[in-house]
Amino acid sequence: MIVGEQFLLLPGPTPVPERVVRAMTKPVINHRGPEFKQILGEVNEGVKQIYRTRHNVLIYPASGTGALEAAVVNFISPGDRVLAISIGVFGDRFTSIAAEFGALVEKIDFPWGQAADPEIIKEKLGADVNHEIKAVLITHNETSTGVCNDIKSIRQAAGDHPALFLIDAVSSLAAADLYMDKWNLDVVVSGSQKAFMIPPGLSFMAFNDKALQVYTQSRNHKYYWDVGKGLNFLEKGQTPFTPPVSLYYGLQEALHIMQEEGLENIITRHMNYRHMVREAVKEMGLKLLAADENASPALTSVIAPPELGANRIRQAMKEEFNIVMAGGQQRLDDVIFRIGHLGYVRELDLLSVLAALEIILVKLGFELKTGTGVKKAQEILLQTHKNA
Ligand SMILES: *Cc1c(COP(=O)(O)O)cnc(C)c1O
Repeated sequence: MIVGEQFLLLPGPTPVPERVVRAMTKPVINHRGPEFKQILGEVNEGVKQIYRTRHNVLIYPASGTGALEAAVVNFISPGDRVLAISIGVFGDRFTSIAAEFGALVEKIDFPWGQAADPEIIKEKLGADVNHEIKAVLITHNETSTGVCNDIKSIRQAAGDHPALFLIDAVSSLAAADLYMDKWNLDVVVSGSQKAFMIPPGLSFMAFNDKALQVYTQSRNHKYYWDVGKGLNFLEKGQTPFTPPVSLYYGLQEALHIMQEEGLENIITRHMNYRHMVREAVKEMGLKLLAADENASPALTSVIAPPELGANRIRQAMKEEFNIVMAGGQQRLDDVIFRIGHLGYVRELDLLSVLAALEIILVKLGFELKTGTGVKKAQEILLQTHKNA
């Protein structure tokens, strides 16, 4: 038995602050009464601030994938031509959902570990002179590889092509910069168990008036996800179906915490984590999957020394230090491990993870002098604190 709490360093679910846990223990209330109406109004506004949008936000009781499905059934109709950009597992998932609901999907795959090239998207949309492509699907932060797409440039590359831009920002919202309105994004999906610091179970979908216009013409089957129902009830301060009231308490408190820290500061903190973890891991002599230019601020994918294997490292971290890291998915299984630095994580948590990682690597026979990566991390921390 290892003393102390487990260090949950996954790119979701992420650690939940004690304040949020306590908020969720409040008694459940009538979801059609005035108290819930107040909470719903407050959290809806709070979530809009995180999206940096003035447009519509709906909150669904579902994991992130539920809201991805909501985006598809409300804004894409059977037979619509859709351009899907995939750089990993989650890009593939968004593509599959659209195909399942009848879209004629053309998929562009970029190699896992790389970001999407805006030029290729520009060419594709530029060639579509009759505007047959109705929607573009793209992941902001690809959690399976630790690569962040340059959504702003990709959106700009589309020029004035009228296709709706549907963005999976489940693991990026409140960790990487995203300006829904300024960047002209039409539908943006996110979820609770990543940067929002609450347990799994809530997802968010923001959509602008252009998307709402498309919704009025949409022909896909939908009931639970129907944004028309959602908006009608929201006007009355309610949700169409029973909301998970306790998770709403958690969201309310998490938003208070986020407001206290400030969105800009939150994003800077994640960028500092990225820098610290990447430089320390490089110093240890390990390789990273993503290049510096498009590395994720939410997680770092480390290529394990092949003779050790990623899963053996993860297992030892868990057994000896009670630190939980994510493995690689699908073809990256046992190739990479992923260090989450997303949400309610402190720099000192990461420093101990780096220290533990060095011990495990040395123990498993990797050639490394203990303290090498930690020293680098400390130097970076010192710099951050001097500048603060
Ligand atoms: C976590 C995640 C999702 C949603 O996964 P769920 O398990 O349904 O919450 C979708 N996209 C990305 C990029 C994610 O990181």
